This record gives sequence, structure tokens and C-alpha cells, in this order.
Amino acid sequence: MSKKVYVQNKNGKPLMPCKPVKARHLLRDGKAEVVQRTPFTIRLKWDCEENTQKVRVGLDTGSKKAGISAVRKDGEVLYQSEVQLRTDIRSKMDRRRRYRRSRRSRKTRHREPKFDNRRRKEGWLPPSLKSKAESMVKAVKKVSEILPVEGVNVEIAPFDMHKVKDPDIEGDEYQNGELKGHTSVRQYVLYRDKDQCINCKKDDVPLQTHHIQPRSEGGTDKPSNMVSLCVECHEELHSGEIELSKRSLKYWRNKEYRFASHVNSMKDHIVDELRKLFDDVKVTFGNMTKAARKKLGLEKSDVNDSIAVALQDFIDKVSVSKLGYTFIKKCLPKGRYRLHKGERSEVSISADNSDYFGFNRWDKVELPNGTVGFVKGRRKSGYFDISDIHGNSYDHSIKHSKLRLIFKADTIITEVKGNSSLQ
Ligand SMILES: [Zn+2]
Ligand SMILES: [Zn+2]
Repeated sequence: MSKKVYVQNKNGKPLMPCKPVKARHLLRDGKAEVVQRTPFTIRLKWDCEENTQKVRVGLDTGSKKAGISAVRKDGEVLYQSEVQLRTDIRSKMDRRRRYRRSRRSRKTRHREPKFDNRRRKEGWLPPSLKSKAESMVKAVKKVSEILPVEGVNVEIAPFDMHKVKDPDIEGDEYQNGELKGHTSVRQYVLYRDKDQCINCKKDDVPLQTHHIQPRSEGGTDKPSNMVSLCVECHEELHSGEIELSKRSLKYWRNKEYRFASHVNSMKDHIVDELRKLFDDVKVTFGNMTKAARKKLGLEKSDVNDSIAVALQDFIDKVSVSKLGYTFIKKCLPKGRYRLHKGERSEVSISADNSDYFGFNRWDKVELPNGTVGFVKGRRKSGYFDISDIHGNSYDHSIKHSKLRLIFKADTIITEVKGNSSLQ
């Protein structure tokens, strides 16, 4: 549970972290300099012995949040973080599209219609997913700048769809007794249906899987032919008391298709990008993470999942010792991109990305009472709104001269949860 100070050698190459006491001595004696405050990192000014151990990063991907941690093989956690991904991209693009459409229908110069003259490049991802994938890769890269990362384990999807569709291919990772059996189609179907009965929507009752087209009539064991039902509804369905509507069955089939394709495009992108940065990248799946996390005795959370992902291959031999604090990271747009007023498309306005009184949005600042927060809103009057990383306000109107700048805003900002002295 001890605090860690991250260390780089003279050339900026990461070494193993040290204790704060040692870092303080090195800094006091002028043998090191501070590289960044959060996470606190120092760079040595002299050539030292490079005594690095193997550190593995675990990445638990998600659609709103990702967990990233770095562990030593004996289970000691050296870094743990939660990354909040951008979820505003889709709505912002929708808004931009609305503006454009309304501009075109107004009395303006002629603009050629643009809708079928664009080709998507191979590997194209929807912008919302692309942003998420890139942020996660970037966050992993940041870890490799402060720790000697040997390899990355990445959890890409809840289930390995190839194995669900063809249960006969069993990879090495499934030979492990503890994880065996987590590939079954039944488990996948329950997961897809959100662990609830698709008829009565109950989720606190035992569930069964039902074949839409019975096996006796040539129905397959593929997930697209199966749905989750509670025992009661299942019995009533077979005795003919209730019927599943064609519409709802069609819905489940489409959902199945969407689920599988969505997961795959993002997965490929993240793995490709990570392989450009690291030689050793291993792909794992959520059902295996869950089993590993339980074996390690950790509760469900993004951070714990990423620890389980990282330690996947050593679960029998280790006991986990976590950090007492977590780095909370949030991904932000680079600037404000409003370029037109929306009245006449030719008239552009410049987005205001300049500082007011030396501050910009999301700059990290210290309030007079010692609280560390972020600049959420700025007013030209010089009175700002200061909040935590999630946007919960600390002070709605504080004068700029009372704030002390700690860190200029970046596309990823960081707060420490669990130990305020590390801000
Ligand atoms: Zn039911
Ligand atoms: Zn049935």
C-alpha cells in the first residue's frame, strides 16, 4: 500500500519506482529533477545501475471507462488507473450535421451535395470508437514512459466470438482448469441478453437458454438461435401458454449481429496500435478476466479487472498488493472547434482557445484552502468555476488571482483518488 515515485534514468528511460523518502533525498542533493507531478516522476542526473524487473500492463477496455494497471509478476501493483473516455463525440457530430443541413437549405451560395462521393478507407472506425481506441492506447503508452513495461495484456471483448461460434477450438489459455468451461455458448447468450429473461425481463431468477428453432427441427446451437428465458416463462412457452413475437425474435437476431461486429472493429484497431508499440501483446477476454479476478480475491471494478488481466498467467502463484490510491484520468477534446456562427456558412469565427488571465479550461489549479481542482468554466469578469475531474463544483465563482496554476490542461487530465497529497 506504499506510495510510489516513478523514476527515469538520465536519458528518460523508465526504471523501477522508488519510495518517496529516497526521491526526496535525491531531489534535495540535486541528483534528480522532477519530470511531472501526477504521477510524480523524477529523472536521475547521473548514470546508475539499471536494475529493472519485468512489468506487465493490463488494459481492461470499456465503452465509457477503461482500467489500466501495471504489475510485477509477484502481484505487486505499481500503477493503477481508471480512464474516462470521451462519450460526447457522437452528439457533437450530430449537432454539426444538423447545422450543416440547415445552412444548406437556407438562401446561401450553391453547394454541391456531398453524400455519396466519399470512400471509407480500410480499417475505418466510427469517430466515437476511434477516439476511445486511441485514448486507451495513448494511456498505455504513458505508463510505458514511467515504468519498464515488458508487455501488455488487453481484454478486448466479453467473449471470444470465434470460440463461441466454434467451441472445438480450445487455445492454451483454456487448458487452465480454472478457466475451462467459460467459453460456452450458454454463458454467452445469458451475457448478451443482459442476464435477464427476454419475456418478463426478470433478472433475479434462474435463467435457461431456449432454442428458437428446436434442435429436433434442425435448429443449431449457434447464439443466434438461442435466447434467455426464466424457468417459468420457458415452461409456459413450451406448453403453449405464451408465444414470443416474431418482432422480438428478429430484434434478438439483429442484436446478436450488431454486438459481434461492433466489438471486432475496435478490437482490431487497439491490438494493431499496441503491437506497433510493444513486442509482446496478449489478447484476453472478459469471461477469463472474471474467473482470474475471483481467483485473486478482488471485487469487481475497472481497476481490479485490469489487474486481473495483467496477472492472468500467474493467478496461481501470486497475492495481489494494490496501491492505496488510483489515478483517475479523463480524456478531453483538444480545443473548441466551433468555426461558424451557423447563420451564414461562409462567415467563420475563430474558436476561442486562448487563456483568460493565464488560465484555460481544465487547467489544474490549487484553491486557497489547499483543494486541488480543475478550471471548469471561465468568465471574462475573471471569476471562474472550479470543479473536480468529474465536473462536481468546488467553487462556482472564485477570482482568478486566488488560484495557483499546477498544470496546464492536456488532452488527458489526471486526478488522484485516495491520497490527496499526491495531486
Ligand atoms: Zn420470464
Ligand atoms: Zn426451450
